[in-house]
Amino acid sequence: MIGEIKIKSIIDLRSDTVTKPSLHMREVMAAAEVGDDVYGEDPTVNLLEEKVAKLFGQEAALFCPSGSLANQLAIRMLVSPGEELITETNSHIVRAELGAAATFSGITTRTWESDRGLLKSEDVLRIAKPNSGPYLVSTAAIAIENTHNFGGGTVQPISEIEKLRRESKRLGISMHLDGARIWNAHIASGVDLADYGKHFDTLSVCLSKGLGAPIGSLMISNKETVAKARQWRKRYGGGMRQIGIIAAAGIYAIDNNLELLALDHMRAKIIAEVIENVSTSLVNSKFIETNIVGVDLSEFDISAKELSEQLSEEGILASALGPKYLRLVTHFDITELDMEKIIEVLSRILKRALVS
Ligand SMILES: *Cc1c(COP(=O)(O)O)cnc(C)c1O
Repeated sequence: MIGEIKIKSIIDLRSDTVTKPSLHMREVMAAAEVGDDVYGEDPTVNLLEEKVAKLFGQEAALFCPSGSLANQLAIRMLVSPGEELITETNSHIVRAELGAAATFSGITTRTWESDRGLLKSEDVLRIAKPNSGPYLVSTAAIAIENTHNFGGGTVQPISEIEKLRRESKRLGISMHLDGARIWNAHIASGVDLADYGKHFDTLSVCLSKGLGAPIGSLMISNKETVAKARQWRKRYGGGMRQIGIIAAAGIYAIDNNLELLALDHMRAKIIAEVIENVSTSLVNSKFIETNIVGVDLSEFDISAKELSEQLSEEGILASALGPKYLRLVTHFDITELDMEKIIEVLSRILKRALVS
């Protein structure tokens, strides 16, 4: 009997990459003007590149299939083989790009540590060693992640970015922004995208996270650097042809979905408060500024994997990123009805875990 078939719906909080293109977005994609982008002849790609460069107050941008490629092209432009890039110890560039900087570009890395990934310029400057002569590795570039993913969606203070830019300029060290979620930082802080953009030599931004496009990132810089990166993109096999159909999704995402991130942020805050109500050791909701909620289970007997399995049995997916670290990410495929279920299930299961 039809009436008895219960469709089990899954609420996927593993990442904001899981969003699916909406009907409207698909319509815009289907109607996009296209050309051969390796020849520079795709009008929709050209439009997206110009639009994004301008948003960040830079001269040019390069459409890339992934944020990892955009990051890797950028840092390759800033750091020569045998020189180093310095970054925070839990940043995507050193933890989640499979050693690409070393593998492809001969770039070595050193890292500083920080609480929640929060940028403090003095932490960076303490390890920055430019022009180190014939014996020690020279620091050529600094990479900043904003928002900081594994730090729990941390927004980097613009005052610290400014301070670091001033000092690093004096030292002759370049700066790269891993801005996969710079859109979230902009919405949470109110700082203009161009005010973030002006402090960096290169930037990478993702369209495929909270903005909801199915594919796509951009590497952003001055004209000369982007022209050089365009050659390297082709060399890496990232030159694509009639990709106006996906660039159109990116344009649509920026025009229509950017402001919607505020709702993701509000919902992440609500989820954090529900978790905090079970135990303040799990999360500090005060620090939840964007769409990522990191849950610290170190004071509980349960592991992140066990908790994610229990949630999964209730139809909620979350990421166990460490033995005691569970990550929940809000995005616009979540509905109000989903939120009710998330709140009910999370508090019930966490309370049970607390007493057991
Ligand atoms: C997602 C992400 C990237 C890029 O990831 P891809 O999966 O390669 O698109 C880069 N940096 C951060 C901080 C990210 O979260």
